[in-house]
Amino acid sequence: MARILIVEDEAKIARFIELELAHEGYEVDKVEDGRAGVDAALSSPYDLILLDVLLPHLNGMEVLRRIRRESDVPVIMLTARDAVMDKVAGLDAGADDYITKPFAIEELLARIRVALKRKAEQEHGSTLQTEVLQLGPVSLDVDRHEVSVNGEPIELTNREFEVLRTLMESPGIVQTRERLASEALDYDFVGESNIVDVYIRQLRSKIDDRYDVKLITTVRGVGYVIREP
Ligand code: CA
Repeated sequence: MARILIVEDEAKIARFIELELAHEGYEVDKVEDGRAGVDAALSSPYDLILLDVLLPHLNGMEVLRRIRRESDVPVIMLTARDAVMDKVAGLDAGADDYITKPFAIEELLARIRVALKRKAEQEHGSTLQTEVLQLGPVSLDVDRHEVSVNGEPIELTNREFEVLRTLMESPGIVQTRERLASEALDYDFVGESNIVDVYIRQLRSKIDDRYDVKLITTVRGVGYVIREP
């Protein structure tokens, strides 16, 4: 069974999560501050880490950065804040997902299952055939996770990549913000779709603005579509 590390300074919350995860059959360890979190994460082979943002000694963002220098273990951030930019910052720093406190335990368990499944798929996906999506000057290599415009490589974060990929898989078809949120970002609950706008803005600044192409079109009140230029 999967091994999960909880990094959470609020003892009651940590204990509650620990009991629920143990009940589900997961092997669980927990630590109470950021520095211990980095040490534990990098010294033991965990399958997933639940990481609180507000922690003593080192905050969760810094813990995440230090873990990411050495490990791509799935990390779900536990955040008390509800600001979209905080979530984006966490995801861009390499978090796989986040959940806002207070959360229902079923929601957390569902996200853990998704993150573990994705990890397993990535580990077994290396033998898949390479698929390259092409649209105008933009090409997107699904398996290598590479995007280029006119042959010039573009640095995209994982989430930016997933949004672009979802759009490029269905050129000419309007994708609602809700669908992009659930397909590309794994957020299937209402009210989180504004996070999609942040990624669209970032994609536009990296592709449309820089290369003077107009690939991504806004469909007001609905969502976005990508078309052959
Ligand atoms: Ca905390």
